[in-house]
Amino acid sequence: MDQSNPLFTSPTFIALVRWGALVVGVLVVLGLLWFLYRQTRSKPRQRLQRVRTLHCVRCNHDLRNHKGANCPKCGLRIPPEQARLLDESQSNPRKKGEEIDD
Ligand SMILES: [Zn+2]
Repeated sequence: MDQSNPLFTSPTFIALVRWGALVVGVLVVLGLLWFLYRQTRSKPRQRLQRVRTLHCVRCNHDLRNHKGANCPKCGLRIPPEQARLLDESQSNPRKKGEEIDD
């Protein structure tokens, strides 16, 4: 930096540089926190939600009336825990209604 230029030594300029550095630093930290949040929370939560609602974990295709080991849309192998849920829903689709008849 040119120390002979009065612009670079003025208190206003120095204050602007400090505030600018602070703002950039805060934005970088917030961006890192957002990135870590997306990596650690969002994807597993979305995957679990799709498994529970019987949708493909990759492409979100509805698998409720599908029989097979792979997603018909994207070809992803259906995870074992979701395959169990699919078997239960297809072998006993009106479980709640039957409980009322008992
Ligand atoms: Zn799929």
